[in-house]
Amino acid sequence: MRLVLVGPPGAGKGTQAKLLSQELGVPHISTGDLFRAHVGDGSDIGQKVQEYLDAGALVPDELTNEMVRERLADADADAGFVLDGFPRNAEQARVLGDILAQRGHRLDAVMQFDVPEDVVVERLLARGRSDDTEDVIRQRQRVYRDETAPLLDYYADMLIHIDATGEVEEINARALKLLSDVG
Ligand code: AMP
Repeated sequence: MRLVLVGPPGAGKGTQAKLLSQELGVPHISTGDLFRAHVGDGSDIGQKVQEYLDAGALVPDELTNEMVRERLADADADAGFVLDGFPRNAEQARVLGDILAQRGHRLDAVMQFDVPEDVVVERLLARGRSDDTEDVIRQRQRVYRDETAPLLDYYADMLIHIDATGEVEEINARALKLLSDVG
């Protein structure tokens, strides 16, 4: 299963991606986690991306796409993946399509997390990550609306909507049910 999760920050993509990755037996690949690991290590990439993460802005595509290209080349991603937080704009989506096509693969599904904005802001404030201050949260929601949401048109023919309100287990059951229909 090659699956992409799309939704506003705080929609619960990371939590569901972890569960689905275990249930489907494919790696969970989160660009946000990869970037935070680089920042934690103080690597070259980490130093370059920190300011973007702090500001709630998108890291430039070249850097992001290269990191994803390398991660998808790892053996464990050959049989599938749950991508969480990538692609986040139309250019990244095109690059992802190219990376997969080069291997004779394609996405199976793009799952869009539907959740009202007041619910996501509440979840983010409760989470308390360093980029979860009110200003940065607002900025990340704006970036989602302006840059990521338009990407959903690009994926119109493989888009699956999930109601992402409620408890973690309920949402996970909904996701599995929806994916079983994909085949
Ligand atoms: P996330 O953990 O998905 O909320 O991502 C946290 C931050 O990492 C974002 O606010 C961006 O600064 C950066 N980031 C994560 N994924 C991407 C991506 N696909 N493109 C650009 N920046 C990203």
